[in-house]
Amino acid sequence: MATQIESARQGITTAQMAAVAKNEGLSAEFVRQMVAEGKVVIPNNTMRNPLSAGIGKGMRTKVNASIGTSSDIVDYDAEIRKAQAAQSAGADTLMELSVGGDLDRVRREVIAAVDLPVGNVPLYQAFCEAARKYGDPNKLDAEMLFDIIEKQCADGMAFMAIHCGINLYTIERLRKQGYRYGGLVSKGGVSMVAWMMKNGRENPLYEQFDRVCGILKKYDVVLSLGNGLRAGAIHDSHDRAMVQELLINCELAELGSEMGCQMLVEGPGHMPLDEIEANVRLQKRMSGDAPYYMLGPISTDVAPGYDHITAAIGAAQSSRYGADLICYITPAEHLALPNEKDVIDGVKAAKVAAYIGDMNKYPERGRERDKEMSKARRDLNWQKQFELALFPEDARAIRASRTPEDEDTCTMCGDFCASRGAGELFKQDLRGDKI
Ligand code: SF4
Repeated sequence: MATQIESARQGITTAQMAAVAKNEGLSAEFVRQMVAEGKVVIPNNTMRNPLSAGIGKGMRTKVNASIGTSSDIVDYDAEIRKAQAAQSAGADTLMELSVGGDLDRVRREVIAAVDLPVGNVPLYQAFCEAARKYGDPNKLDAEMLFDIIEKQCADGMAFMAIHCGINLYTIERLRKQGYRYGGLVSKGGVSMVAWMMKNGRENPLYEQFDRVCGILKKYDVVLSLGNGLRAGAIHDSHDRAMVQELLINCELAELGSEMGCQMLVEGPGHMPLDEIEANVRLQKRMSGDAPYYMLGPISTDVAPGYDHITAAIGAAQSSRYGADLICYITPAEHLALPNEKDVIDGVKAAKVAAYIGDMNKYPERGRERDKEMSKARRDLNWQKQFELALFPEDARAIRASRTPEDEDTCTMCGDFCASRGAGELFKQDLRGDKI
């Protein structure tokens, strides 16, 4: 069966492209064209057909939520609740990143519990199984790795973060550089680097890149080129190792796309605000506009407990300059396995960031919703404010928890309500649309 990109190149508008066009308010022909050019991907799986989310040029910035067990906390029901909570809070995609317990079970149960496209990192299961089987993850053999990728595709994965861009040159760059304030922070990345160093071998995912693409193509799965050497500290941002991997990933994105596989490129991580624009432009330039998946980025390292906010600030900026998919960060980042509330808070923070990014990424689409909200606030039209809110129930609940004496106002200023005062003073003058 043809992949989305192969169909698009044959001039075929698939059901997934039509659904994306409808969701985005765009023409199906535009979506088809973008998919054909490798500028938009639609995570899919021929065994499952999840909800269609268009990621890339001209599309609304999407939000990914990641869940999954750890070696310390294995609670299958909790992971299912987190996955469903992420979907209810508005996540567009979900990553199932378990590394503890029965990995086949949790993956299959999570996929069955949501309609979203689900992604994962196959290296996790590969290294976990090698450790269980041989007592050493570095004894993983390449065949086992490819078998696991295939098994997970057959289970219904819609996108896979695979660390193909780490090769011997990348490791050499890291060594020559001789420093890293934040070390290596990608679980898959560090496991692959360790495997390569211990075995003195090239990364089989790089060496046999066409084989990786071949497996994913069979199921129409998006290959998300993992960012294994991403900066995990803002002072490592754009060091030579990170840039080397980005360069290789952009090259592989082009190659994979030519092979008919849908391709995403992953970015960091941690990055100061003043480097984000350059990073996104570099990725877009080097990959020929392949969709870019940013993990925020986290824009300062000093706010543990509030990293959903540090990442949202970075995400508003990355989305503004062209990042297409934002991975949420939760308040538990760097501290603990996220719980259900962390997941919800993380999704909502990322949704706000993506919304702000899109206001600036697509200024030509207008900012009507913000204008209508401003007018509703000015006119103390509470019902309208709730209708326009990104999270109406939250807004309603806060207001209901502290009701004012005069229901026109709120308990913030009460009798001193500026909106009411100005409304009475300038009844006619301030109600027009062009003030
Ligand atoms: S009371 Fe203050 S915060 Fe509340 S609606 Fe009036 S001006 Fe706004």
